[in-house]
Formats: sequence, structure tokens, C-alpha cells
Amino acid sequence: RPVVGVLALQGDVREHLTALREQGADAVPVRRPEELAAVDGLVLPGGESTTIAKLAARSGVLAPLRAAVRTGLPAYGSCAGMILLADHILDAPPDQETVGGLDVTVRRNAFGRQVDSFESELVFEGLTGGPVRAVFIRAPWVEKAGQEVEVLGRIVGGGADGRIVAVRQGNLVATSFHPELTGDRRVHALFVDIVRRHLAQQADSAHHGAVG
Ligand code: GLN
Repeated sequence: RPVVGVLALQGDVREHLTALREQGADAVPVRRPEELAAVDGLVLPGGESTTIAKLAARSGVLAPLRAAVRTGLPAYGSCAGMILLADHILDAPPDQETVGGLDVTVRRNAFGRQVDSFESELVFEGLTGGPVRAVFIRAPWVEKAGQEVEVLGRIVGGGADGRIVAVRQGNLVATSFHPELTGDRRVHALFVDIVRRHLAQQADSAHHGAVG
């Protein structure tokens, strides 16, 4: 079973642990560098990105997390987690640190001026079984995405029509919304699948390394 951590400094950690377990992962909270070193993938939950970044720096987990993501650790960020995975953040305090790795520019609280929270049906690329019911809470959107970034979902209609709210770049996935708050587990299933494939690849290259 793949071991998938949830960064457990602040935010809706428990909901992600439950969703991951339902997808067959061994889900564990991660607060410290030793715990990070023991996982095959990591979820960065929703919450308050400024607070999570501060606590991560203080606990010493931020620097090793940055390094792990850059060397291929699969990571999934929802809402605040999307902000933390972004290389560039708009409307953040000037000293806000980030994990980065995703070649995107994210705007914090992007929908906030009109509405704080809303739900919407979203077509999510690659997921079968119809649109995803997406819950947005003081959510960011992706304002700019680099060439390597696959856009998986956009808002349709209203003032935010066309805004990007779900992306993937290699082993990194991010959504502006909170699939952990609905019973729909397809986004977590997609992420656990990425973790499984990554593990299999690593086992494969270790094997060939030993032979060659
Ligand atoms: N607005 C929050 C932030 O900037 C994110 C909100 C959320 O995760 N629901 O971190």
C-alpha cells in the first residue's frame, strides 16, 4: 500500500486522511521532516496558506518538502495547498514563503471580492463519470500556467468564466476547490494512482540499476 501523508500543520487534514484511506492508501499526518521522509506522496490541505507556510518553516519541514517536490515526490494541493505548490503567488503578504514546483501564478482569494464561497459543476479532464461537484471556499485561481502545465478544469459561466481551477504538472496536482469535503473521491483516486505509478517506476529503475 502506498503511504500518503497529509501536511498536518493547519487546515482540513482529517477529511483528506479519510478520503485517501478510502482509496486504499496508508494515510498518515506529516508534521516533521522525519515523517515527510517516510511518505510516498503528500497532500497539502485547504486552510490558510500564510499560516501553513509559517508553521512549515518553523517546524523545519518546508525546506525538505521543497527539495522532495523538486526531485519528484508526488504532491496534491487543494485550495491553500494549491497556493503552496505554486511558483508565484499574487495577493499574498510580501514575506509569504512557498513550496513551489508548479509552474503557475496563483491569485489568493481570487473569487473573494464577489463571493466568498460557492459550489459549481466542473468538467475535470481525464475523470470519467461526469462533472465534479466543486466546493470553493475563499479559493485561489490559476492566473497563468506554464507550458508544462496541463489544465484539468476551468470555471464555466459567470464573472470568472474560463478561470483555471485544476492543474497537473508531472506528479503535481492542484485544485482550487475541496474534493475532500464532498463524497466524490475521484480526485483523490487520481492522486493515489499517480503515487502508485511513481512507486512502481522507482522500483523498476532500482531493479535496472542493480542489473546494469
Ligand atoms: N484563502 C486561503 C489562503 O489564502 C485558502 C482558503 C482555503 O484553503 N479554503 O490560504
